[in-house]
Amino acid sequence: MKLSFEKFELKKKYPFTISGHTMLSQTVIYVTIEHGGYSGTGEASPGYYFNETVDDVINFYTSLVPDFEKFPNLDNRQAIMDFVDQKRPGLTAAKGGIDIALNDLYGKMSGVPCYKLFGANPATMPITSFTIGMDEPAMIRKKVREATDFKLLKIKLGGERDREIIEAIRAESDQPLTVDANQGWTDRQEALDMIHWLKEKGTIFIEQPMPADRRDDNAWVTEHSPLPVVADEAVQRLADVEKAKGVYHGINIKMSKCTGMLEGHKILQKARSLGLKVMIGCMGESSVAILGAAAIAPLCDWVDLDSSWLMANNPYEDPMLKDGRIILSDEPGLGLRKK
Ligand code: MG
Repeated sequence: MKLSFEKFELKKKYPFTISGHTMLSQTVIYVTIEHGGYSGTGEASPGYYFNETVDDVINFYTSLVPDFEKFPNLDNRQAIMDFVDQKRPGLTAAKGGIDIALNDLYGKMSGVPCYKLFGANPATMPITSFTIGMDEPAMIRKKVREATDFKLLKIKLGGERDREIIEAIRAESDQPLTVDANQGWTDRQEALDMIHWLKEKGTIFIEQPMPADRRDDNAWVTEHSPLPVVADEAVQRLADVEKAKGVYHGINIKMSKCTGMLEGHKILQKARSLGLKVMIGCMGESSVAILGAAAIAPLCDWVDLDSSWLMANNPYEDPMLKDGRIILSDEPGLGLRKK
């Protein structure tokens, strides 16, 4: 098996601000795994809150090149991922890129679309949300006008202007909303008051209302909240899922947090066994990591797989979208297409 990789700078269509941090671009690393005349593609998007840098990903991938030469076949993808996971701690985005490439390759070699590898039925795909980045009211209204292909809008709150932002959206659209506070609310009573107001404004759930390390406050908000409350920053990997029970109504799975599709699917099953709702989301990614997540998205309650549409120079075709839902390709593997 041969592993190779290359760095790529994804440029955002609009500067993207989350809790005071503005990004103009996102460097991702595309990873290719070749075997038996086939090749699979993955994508690592090292995120700002996992302490994982682009250089970390590249150094890790460089160290894995000789290891992959020794893997005889793809029969046991989990064993390969166990090896990759144990080789170094952390680096979940890098590991996620490897997992996505392995699954794309395995799907192509077996002639099966990736969703079938995970028992997902494309007909049950929920609508995906589309993120309206924080901005001045006039720009927010412009972004909302440009988002009419999407049937659910996601808003990042957690600052001083939360109500103003929601009013700007509501001046243009009555589509349902989801709200991600990105740990930005610091007072639990104020957070709860805001959630009640957001419900009146047509919000359907809230993501990470308060800082992830404030379990008691998040649990209190969840207990009193009129809307479902979902953990994002508080739940990263399989071992974290149990901690969400009693603190949140649900969890957010992301390829770059959880090391990819194999563990993402296990997280989903674990969350279901605990009675938790499941959302699947993304970081700043192009179609590769988005289609990896989309393959298990029909098994989830809420889908937030919008980042390829937020990029100006995605080198791959965007996922197919119909009535606000990602349509999964029947082609073997992820169904990726280069532009
Ligand atoms: Mg989030």
